[in-house]
Amino acid sequence: MDPVTGQWLAGPTSKPGGAGPGRETPEEQEGLADAEKVNRKVPVIPYVEDTRNILVVKLAEPVERDTAVTLQYALERGIEAEFQLEDSELDTEELPPYEGPRERLLFVESAEGGAGVLRRLQAEPEALARAARKALEIAHFDQLGRDRGAEKQNGDPCEKGCYDCLLSFGNQRHHRAIDRNLVAELLQAFAGGSVGESTPA
Ligand SMILES: [Zn+2]
Repeated sequence: MDPVTGQWLAGPTSKPGGAGPGRETPEEQEGLADAEKVNRKVPVIPYVEDTRNILVVKLAEPVERDTAVTLQYALERGIEAEFQLEDSELDTEELPPYEGPRERLLFVESAEGGAGVLRRLQAEPEALARAARKALEIAHFDQLGRDRGAEKQNGDPCEKGCYDCLLSFGNQRHHRAIDRNLVAELLQAFAGGSVGESTPA
């Protein structure tokens, strides 16, 4: 930037079509004065700071990636439904290791300050169980873990996932990993049910 006039100056350009770090495309430089011709100039690096509530859920044992990814979205849906949040208010991200089994899930409240729901999940003993019960229901399981995906009220039976349960436009890149059958037992465990209990056919 030219500190005398306050005008942005054209910096080093990148090749057409690709902007690299600190470089601008020729289109971005259109109308900017040439930095080479200005005596006084200061570099300006824009950045943002952000404060958000996060919650890291650590499982007792690592699970396969597809299971972890499915569990993330199932719990996100369950939390949103149980605590009346919009889909945009809560987000979930993968944490490393990005390959192979993992044990941690990250939840992020989208708005600065947030709705405080992650704090409730941490502080209230029943909150996570409530969210998990809701998640089971959303994923077409009853509270005994029995699959109700074939008896869906609307549309086709649900196998691994559908837009009524765990799939959304926001998690499109994970659609191949998402399989609701992988998380029924885990959700039951979170919900306070016993794991591995045989269910009536
Ligand atoms: Zn479904």
